[in-house]
Amino acid sequence: MDNSTTRDIPDIQALELEGKRVFIRVDFNVPLDKKTGAVTDDTRIRAALPTIEHAKKRGAKVILASHLGRPDGKVDPRYSLVPVGARLAELSGLEVLVPDDCIGEGPKNLVQGLRDNQVVLLENLRFHPEEEANDDGFARQLAALCDLYVNDAFGAAHRAHASVEALPRLLRQRAAESGASVPTVAAGFLMKREVDTLSSLLGEPERPFIAVIGGAKVSDKIGVVEALLGRCDALLIGGAMAYTFLSAKGIALGKSRIEADKVALARRALTKAETRRVPLHLPSDHLVVEEVKDDASTQVCGNEGFPEAGIAVDIGPATADYYEALVRGAKTVFWNGPMGIFEMAPFAQGTERVARALAACEGTTVVGGGDSIAALQKLGLAGEVTHASTGGGASLELVEGQSLPGVEALRGAVGASN
Ligand code: ADP
Ligand code: MG
Repeated sequence: MDNSTTRDIPDIQALELEGKRVFIRVDFNVPLDKKTGAVTDDTRIRAALPTIEHAKKRGAKVILASHLGRPDGKVDPRYSLVPVGARLAELSGLEVLVPDDCIGEGPKNLVQGLRDNQVVLLENLRFHPEEEANDDGFARQLAALCDLYVNDAFGAAHRAHASVEALPRLLRQRAAESGASVPTVAAGFLMKREVDTLSSLLGEPERPFIAVIGGAKVSDKIGVVEALLGRCDALLIGGAMAYTFLSAKGIALGKSRIEADKVALARRALTKAETRRVPLHLPSDHLVVEEVKDDASTQVCGNEGFPEAGIAVDIGPATADYYEALVRGAKTVFWNGPMGIFEMAPFAQGTERVARALAACEGTTVVGGGDSIAALQKLGLAGEVTHASTGGGASLELVEGQSLPGVEALRGAVGASN
């Protein structure tokens, strides 16, 4: 069985929604302004709107649920979903009711009396430690609120948490026991698009298929690097992780950020690339400073004779030219991880060149990773790629070929053709 598409997963259109209470697990884990508490980026809220609007149009009583931040299983007003509800109300034109808790009589009564123009947004699921513990008892309390379940929270799909795994499992058991012939759990539109687009990279992507992997740490990305070596036509590496790879080849880069304990992992990946005859490209030049600060004076250095006191902060112009050309000419591109410390404008060139090349590429372009998406957004290019994933960790695990608990919990649900 193909483990990574939604082919045998019902989507929300397969549910009989009219008059039913539908629990929609959304990913409203959005960044908040530390001072004002307001939502600073509502991308994830917008991304869930089609599913919410569909359920409303079909006459369902909509219950939305999400985690926000890391309140560590305790009620913490800093992580309340109230400001998220306010933004959702603005975006959707609906009245958003937020009870004090996500379980118990409060939400139950609210759902009971729900009017046409209203939805319920439950308070932060992670105010209860049972959420992250995937606790059945907690999931049963959530199940008491609803008849149907939709998961649209791709960003949380790699977590076996109660609202992601135990809850749909319980609802499926409940449906099986009552002999239901139509599905009671399904994927939302966002979940479906995320899983289908990302897993298309595992199938037969149009070639050439180029992967660009950057970011800070080898440890975060080694899994996806190794998995992609089996599938792509060329792998381009940038960001700080490139220096650990160069170090594995015996190239010293002064004081650049290197993970000494990951050099062996990098060497293993280099060997694998050679055996599989997949070109693994590392930067041939770098933007170099002596101190990482906005107004540092910069120079361009190659891999030979790198200054001892130098710190590489971005790929250099020759590397950017090379990566840009490969990306523009590709039929499929997957990009995860910035090429440099893009948060500082003088070190954002390499990342910007890669982002613009993706936008200009006529093939399928897929981007994962919070910082990479942030870089795209900063450039106003988020709409210029085929798919910008809302899930960081989840998108990487999927591209690595791992199965995601939140996706598996929907698979083969009652009434699905499988
Ligand atoms: P994503 O969120 O897209 O998966 P990561 O979180 O893996 O990306 O990596 C992003 C971080 O990597 C950024 O904060 C960036 O500053 C850092 N980074 C990239 N290149 C370098 C570098 N040369 N030196 C230090 N940090 C870097
Ligand atoms: Mg990141």
